[in-house]
Amino acid sequence: MPKKPVVAISSCLVGQRVRYDGNDKLQDWIDELNNDLSLVPVCPEFELGMGVPREKIQLEWSEDGVQLFGIDSRKNWTFLMTKYAEERCEALDNMDLCGFILKSRSPSCGIANVHVHNCEEPRTASGRFAKTVLSKWPELPVVDETMLNLNHLRQEFVAKVCSYQQAYRS
Ligand code: SF4
Repeated sequence: MPKKPVVAISSCLVGQRVRYDGNDKLQDWIDELNNDLSLVPVCPEFELGMGVPREKIQLEWSEDGVQLFGIDSRKNWTFLMTKYAEERCEALDNMDLCGFILKSRSPSCGIANVHVHNCEEPRTASGRFAKTVLSKWPELPVVDETMLNLNHLRQEFVAKVCSYQQAYRS
């Protein structure tokens, strides 16, 4: 029997209480996906040492482009998050990663459409961790939780993950 494909997932979506406010975002379809996939929880902000609870962070526009800032402290997390993301993705690559499920709208995990503050024009971007995921594996099946809210969407995602495993990890 082939081993279950490894899929990383934002930790808050599997019920880990790692959000800035100490809560989770548990999805009711997690047990269903666990039947077909080997889910590996990843929380960039917690693993980077930001703590729980923690200050909220946000994407902001600056002369250096889109940056990740603590809202009150004004700490710029961009360099540390990018470095962490590269190292974490390398470790996931060594685990034969076949897919990623990320939390929508997060300044770290959001795949797209994350609001960028301090812009004269309305602007959106990927979260700083998601940006590295998307650039490292252009063919990898990557979704957020809003793309899995129907049964047939989850089945399609699992099928794509299995195809990726056959094509790239066998
Ligand atoms: S959205 Fe990402 S960074 Fe935020 S709590 Fe969930 S896993 Fe952690």
